Amino acid sequence: MTTPEQERWSRVKGRLRSTVGEDVYTSWFARMDLEGVQDKSVRLSVPTRFLKSWIQAHYAERVLSCWQAELPDVHRIDLTVRSAIRPVAPGKEAAPAIDPRRADRADGRTADLRATATVPVSANHDALGGSPLDPRLTFASFVIGRSNTLAHAAARQVAEGRRGDPVMFNPLYIHAGVGLGKTHLLQAVTWAGNSGNERKVLYLTAEKFMYGFVAALKTQTALAFKEALRGIDVLVIDDLQFLQGKSTQAEFCHTLNALIDAGRQVVIAADRPPSDLESLDDRVRSRLAGGLVVEMGSLGEELRLGILKSRVAAARAHHASFDVPDDVLNYLARTITHNGRDLEGAINRLLAHSKLNAQPVTLEMAEREVRDLIRPQEPKRIKIEDIQRVVARQYNVSRSDLLSSRRTANVVRPRQVAMYLAKTLTLRSLPEIGRRFGGRDHTTVLHAVRKIEALVAKDTALSEEVESLKRQLQE
Ligand code: ADP
Ligand code: MG
Repeated sequence: MTTPEQERWSRVKGRLRSTVGEDVYTSWFARMDLEGVQDKSVRLSVPTRFLKSWIQAHYAERVLSCWQAELPDVHRIDLTVRSAIRPVAPGKEAAPAIDPRRADRADGRTADLRATATVPVSANHDALGGSPLDPRLTFASFVIGRSNTLAHAAARQVAEGRRGDPVMFNPLYIHAGVGLGKTHLLQAVTWAGNSGNERKVLYLTAEKFMYGFVAALKTQTALAFKEALRGIDVLVIDDLQFLQGKSTQAEFCHTLNALIDAGRQVVIAADRPPSDLESLDDRVRSRLAGGLVVEMGSLGEELRLGILKSRVAAARAHHASFDVPDDVLNYLARTITHNGRDLEGAINRLLAHSKLNAQPVTLEMAEREVRDLIRPQEPKRIKIEDIQRVVARQYNVSRSDLLSSRRTANVVRPRQVAMYLAKTLTLRSLPEIGRRFGGRDHTTVLHAVRKIEALVAKDTALSEEVESLKRQLQE
């Protein structure tokens, strides 16, 4: 038998479901129950304190307005935590009006702790299934050089934090190109953090976060997933640039906010700075940029040599006869400039070759074995800010002139040139470029690009100017 109150609650839930969408609804509201309506306040309950604070932080207004659509008099929602031992009846048809004793208990800490305790520690990890860790990627094997000093120091600081310590920079956001040590550093943080056994550090690739979450939603364990996330002291997310899909991003945003607000540490790596993560919405981007953002530059020759030596030392632990003479190491460090993966690959090949042929490593052999790893110098990664700076300097205007809405001829042309260079020298999309030029529409960017292309074709002075700007940027 349904009471009018239950019917009303069903309609409120229907409204909620249609405003927040199915995914969000199932994640957060599926286990929310009506406890009763009294005067102008509605009492609702959820099974855990985490859900309670999450809903209060993110959805309080929506819940209230959905109620007000049914009962205009309602002006307040009380959300409580149900006791863990209360059976959850399917359908909840017979939800009684408020039972003051239970409400008291549900509000109290005892009940709430019990609810937490029902999630066993191991289940936390089952639900989350962290990404696998490579035992070699530790701080001990991480070589410090000029390009990664700051990132290393910040990562160390995070790894050495203790439970309850104030969090210094949150999130810590590390970005660098492929093979420059992001994963190594993140896994080092995870190993170091977990070794004390005091804090729980979870390492997830963005893909794992995505598929883990989607899979959890599909199998209705989204709650377990969130419960488990709550038990994490440090959340480490690698390759954030792969995070895709609206609902996952919304979840990521919530997770990020909830963890940061709760004083938990978040560490993130990506191949570009937050401002270039095109598919993320502005709020997430600014939250990411609000902590410490550190770039790791390309590996200098000295650092490359250090990495090679550390790799050889690691290999010698298992292959005592393996030895790489200094001239070979120097040769490799000088010529394999591209990234850390190629350095690792080079050592692996030398090891394989010397084992299989039972021969010592020589310079001649090294030259032959690693020939294909020697790539021409990578073109420099050009940033939109650099383009704006160089163009502004060339035309004697300020960078803010370029971003402004001013339309006088002395800024319009430089602005068009800058947008043209952004399109031709970076991989950024038209909408992204528009956004970075003071929030312009992508059609404006397209117009500028076409305009400059046409002018360059017939105006040699401009064409030379553009070439000179390109050279300055590529230097
Ligand atoms: P990314 O995640 O940035 O693409 P990785 O962390 O996977 O790069 O690094 C690629 C390879 O280079 C790995 O074998 C890693 O151990 C090695 N490497 C990169 N930087 C360093 C460093 N500073 N010290 C030791 N090894 C490094
Ligand atoms: Mg990586």
